[in-house]
Amino acid sequence: MEKKINIAIDGYSGCGKSTLAKALAEALDYIYIDSGAMYRAVTFHMIKRKINKENIADLEEALEEIDLNFKRVGNSNHLYLNGEYLENELRTMEVNGSVSFFSTISQVRTKLVDIQKSLAERKGFVMDGRDIGTVVLTNAELKLFLTCDLETRVMRRKKELDDKNILATFESVRENFLERDYIDSTRADSPLIRASDAILIDNSTLTQEALLSYCLELVAEKLKVY
Ligand code: C5P
Repeated sequence: MEKKINIAIDGYSGCGKSTLAKALAEALDYIYIDSGAMYRAVTFHMIKRKINKENIADLEEALEEIDLNFKRVGNSNHLYLNGEYLENELRTMEVNGSVSFFSTISQVRTKLVDIQKSLAERKGFVMDGRDIGTVVLTNAELKLFLTCDLETRVMRRKKELDDKNILATFESVRENFLERDYIDSTRADSPLIRASDAILIDNSTLTQEALLSYCLELVAEKLKVY
């Protein structure tokens, strides 16, 4: 049987993690798991239920109502929240504005980390997020930590949102990246940090093709060892 590894990709918001993860999954015929979409789905539900994150009892009750399911589509797992596929609804600026707040809550993290671990119990997965190399897939054979300069991230994300007809200004995208990076990297429970064994990649000037081929070389090296 063909040998496979697991790949963990972490980094700040908008550094190109999901684009890279999807491309790696396709090139290697692995399965891509977008852990951020799960935090976005929880946030979407909390907003709909008008839950205040300070009210832990209400929040725990609302968390119980959340059922996340996955449907394999090509090399990705599409996420369904209580039976609904909500890809664009999870990417709005409203969700962007609250997702990092709800992601600080340990009850939320425990629920999602358990699901993420069980999804990638075997090999052949690429998962991206903020705590994948440090908490979720600590045994991943290849760990990457992406950075990118802020203006490049803003330009790239604005274009993605425009393409999806999601309204946002450059300024709001920039502010949201700064706010999320700050909350994500300073929270008490599983903050965004580079795992000691993660390879640091600055994605400011690389083309998608150059980044992919560099990472495929890293995978090939790992496959020789494992
Ligand atoms: O990856 P994405 O930008 O969609 O993630 C949205 C938010 O979800 C992040 O800013 C972070 O607050 C949270 N998140 C997290 N841990 C992960 C993935 C995402 O806390 N593994």
